[in-house]
Amino acid sequence: MRQSQLFTKTLKESPKDEMAKNAELLIRAGFIYKEMAGVYAYLPFGIRVLEKIKQIVREEMNAIGGQEIIMTTLQRKELWEKTNRWDDKKVDVWFKSQLKNGTDVGFGWSHEEPITNMMRTYLSSYRDLPAYVYQFQTKLRNELRAKSGIMRGREFVMKDMYSYSLDEETHQKFYDGTKDAYMRIFERIGLGQDTYITFASGGAFTQFSHEFQTITNAGEDTIFINREKHIAINEEVINNKILKELNITKEELEKVKTAEVGNIFNFGTSKCEKLGLYVAGKDGKKTPVFLGSYGIGITRLMGVIVERFADDKGIVWPESVAPFDVHLVSLCRETTDITKVDMLYKQLCAEGIDVLYDDRDARVGEKFADSDLIGIQTRIVVSPKTLGQGKVEVKKRTEDIVNLIDLNTIHTCINK
Ligand code: ATP
Ligand code: MG
Repeated sequence: MRQSQLFTKTLKESPKDEMAKNAELLIRAGFIYKEMAGVYAYLPFGIRVLEKIKQIVREEMNAIGGQEIIMTTLQRKELWEKTNRWDDKKVDVWFKSQLKNGTDVGFGWSHEEPITNMMRTYLSSYRDLPAYVYQFQTKLRNELRAKSGIMRGREFVMKDMYSYSLDEETHQKFYDGTKDAYMRIFERIGLGQDTYITFASGGAFTQFSHEFQTITNAGEDTIFINREKHIAINEEVINNKILKELNITKEELEKVKTAEVGNIFNFGTSKCEKLGLYVAGKDGKKTPVFLGSYGIGITRLMGVIVERFADDKGIVWPESVAPFDVHLVSLCRETTDITKVDMLYKQLCAEGIDVLYDDRDARVGEKFADSDLIGIQTRIVVSPKTLGQGKVEVKKRTEDIVNLIDLNTIHTCINK
């Protein structure tokens, strides 16, 4: 991508009402655009990061047997009435509207009800189970406070997966397998070290649900952790009973601020019973289905990554989710030199390397400041002087050292 042709520009300032570091940096660097509080558009750079995160999640969901779908945003009131979740007193984040004929509809803030209802069409026998489905979708939630940038959107992208199992054993096995898949995702994204599987409230069937909480001061949650034992408990459920069960004392725990990046939830058979999802069991009897629900906040994750790795110069992307592999910054102004840099750009692209090419006619200082703000790991600087020696300067985003590299060996410094 040639920066001279990109319609977005880096901005000196973010909107005055933006208080979150993640959104401030992402707006200034041209990843997102703020429409209103909690509502952000994703621009060319932003989409690249989102797609990288989604692809990692997709690979791990497919690996445990997930099948990808996309449900609808408009939802039927009747389905949510069956589980007593239509009432605004029960669910306080609903956006609702009406069709021209007066029929009430809701905008999807979650999808357990419609997906489970849909499954009645396809699951009728024990032979049809288990079934695992997932989607990436923009959820709409009328959040009271949206002050955390893209970490709390009124529109946000979630990956939600649903498991339908015949018996508790299959159900539990998948539930535990999902925990591992989730940790693999957070590791691949660079947040493995800081992310804890946390006991939290909820779970219709079990006593707890499991949240995936990442340590960050920008988070809205508080949990208690033990780093050595890798135990974590949300403050909302901490009591003597759970401490005893986990064989740990409060003194061994450290209080930290976190952001919930994922949540897995065990509904047992309760949800399917309310919505009428039964299959014919091996004995021919009508059998209710076990449901598990597994969420990951895709856009929140992007915000958490920014919060976690940014420094005073701007964003720092882990390589696995960076918008580009390389930032090629040209300081050349003579036509013959520019032609050479263009050739280098084309050559790298042809090799399948994602290159952001700063071919703008701008000051050196501005180019470097923008490069730091955008946050790509590897920066290759081509100046007339080094080009004359057949060399380029290579610098890593978080290091100060600049290496003079021979053009022929340039690949050795690109991680792809
Ligand atoms: P929170 O307690 O932060 O409001 P939640 O319990 O409502 O989260 P779930 O309904 O379980 O969240 O949604 C699954 C995942 O979606 C969460 O773990 C989180 O990562 C993400 N998520 C939830 N609400 C938002 C939001 N408003 N903006 C961005 N991501 C969100
Ligand atoms: Mg919520």
